[in-house]
Amino acid sequence: MVEKMLQFVRLQQQTPEKREAAARRLDFNEIYAAFDPTKAKDQASRCSQCGVPFCQVHCPLNNNIPDWLKLTAEGRLEEAYEVASSTNTFPEVCGRVCPQDRLCEGNCVIEKGFNSVTIGSVEKYIVDTAWENGWVKPPTPRKELGISVGIIGAGPAGLAAAERLRVRGYEVHVYDRYDRVGGLLVYGIPNFKLEKEVVLRRWKQFEAGGIHFHMNVDIGRDITLTALREKHAALFIATGVYKARDIALPGNDLPGVVKALDYLTTSNRQGLGDSVPAYEDGSLNARGKHVVVIGGGDTAMDCVRTAVRQGAASVSCLYRRDKANMPGSMREVYNAEEEGVRFVWLAAPQAFEGTDHVTGVRAVRMHLGLPDATGRQQVEEIEGSSFVQQADMVIKALGFDPEDLPAMFDEPALTVTRWGTLKVDYRTQMTALPGVFAGGDIVRGASLVVWGIRDGRDAADQIHQYIGAQQALGTAAE
Ligand code: FAD
Ligand code: SF4
Ligand code: SF4
Repeated sequence: MVEKMLQFVRLQQQTPEKREAAARRLDFNEIYAAFDPTKAKDQASRCSQCGVPFCQVHCPLNNNIPDWLKLTAEGRLEEAYEVASSTNTFPEVCGRVCPQDRLCEGNCVIEKGFNSVTIGSVEKYIVDTAWENGWVKPPTPRKELGISVGIIGAGPAGLAAAERLRVRGYEVHVYDRYDRVGGLLVYGIPNFKLEKEVVLRRWKQFEAGGIHFHMNVDIGRDITLTALREKHAALFIATGVYKARDIALPGNDLPGVVKALDYLTTSNRQGLGDSVPAYEDGSLNARGKHVVVIGGGDTAMDCVRTAVRQGAASVSCLYRRDKANMPGSMREVYNAEEEGVRFVWLAAPQAFEGTDHVTGVRAVRMHLGLPDATGRQQVEEIEGSSFVQQADMVIKALGFDPEDLPAMFDEPALTVTRWGTLKVDYRTQMTALPGVFAGGDIVRGASLVVWGIRDGRDAADQIHQYIGAQQALGTAAE
């Protein structure tokens, strides 16, 4: 029999076709085409089936990557789907949005010399094929347990927990202050990275499986945490981080200086067909404007690329370090460059200029100095190097911190770290409140979708154990 794997010596790395930048600029559709089946098979066959697969070690979900690559190479796609979905609640989402260059693919052993296996694209291909063929089924349990669990937050962490608990037979109630399920998958990440239908079809599946969704319900305002605790045998808090970091610069309050998430949420809502006054009146719409985005992370890349698609007159990104030191995924930086974004490296904002409306950003040139205790090079201002970057819209993409959850939930016993993230026991994921678990960004700080999924799945297992132990105690006491 001809060896199907180890083809990296013969076959070059190929990703699915990427649309031309000129065409991408005109719409919000995803930029990568689907893998052609033969190409997907070929690319999967490049894997060398490592005895110790570093790709798997560096995937936060420890996905069984070599196995599903081999099954794909052999054309056994339904089995590949079974394996891929056994460790990941949303493999089709991760295949699209994980920074693979820092996770699985960046650690693939053939990366050096031959370029990695295109793991993320194959993962997306397997699960998109599963959807097309009707292999993706609602999460239905074999037996109902008659015990309910409440989940606060319908982002990836909350949904991953919901699915796993439902399959075990729990009555699952998910509460979210938004009107749609998905959290940042729907209202943060733009459509050109993750088409919304990919998330919304999961919502329908979860409802079909019997998960109860209570949308437009803000816990702390509409229902108290105490009331929820009384209603459910256990709770999982997965509320994410939403307080935008700010810089106190002169002109901060000028019209035209906006926050990244307000801008992206508006754009996503508009794309979903909602009527959004801030988009229609132009305050959160980049059309015809000179746009400056401040920041160097993934959120900044999403903003610059959204502004390009909205028809901005020019889009610049101001970042105080250089390209090599950007925190975001390099793949997204290259995509932005291709789409015509101008990067102003080593530049830090000093003030927003203008009287009635912002007209520019005054910035100063920086240079990289000596590394600090963490090994990261420090930035220092170059004296007398101020300049003004013209702008009639400035988007601040400086990161996110947690909201004050103990205050929001009126629950001082809910303890937090000095960064405001929820404190949990790292073994059980339980907070200081018995039966209340937490995970995702609200515990880790702004992180990644794949880590949210990991936390949600782990928390579901911990909640199951906790409820089992409580029941055993109850029975023993009778
Ligand atoms: P979230 O997705 O934030 O979901 C939390 C949910 O809780 C929300 O639906 C919210 O409405 C709800 N909620 C909050 N408070 C309450 C309350 N009091 N009552 C009821 N509901 C509440 N990660 C990647 O891996 N790849 C990317 O490309 C990527 N791009 C990103 C782009 C942007 C612009 C942003 C902001 C983040 C990006 N991330 C990316 C990070 C990723 O989206 C998050 O790490 C992930 O969504 C965290 O999941 P979560 O479930 O913890 O929280
Ligand atoms: Fe790679 Fe993310 Fe998929 Fe893991 S979940 S294999 S890190 S793309
Ligand atoms: Fe295959 Fe690369 Fe993973 Fe090795 S590290 S098993 S070659 S994908």
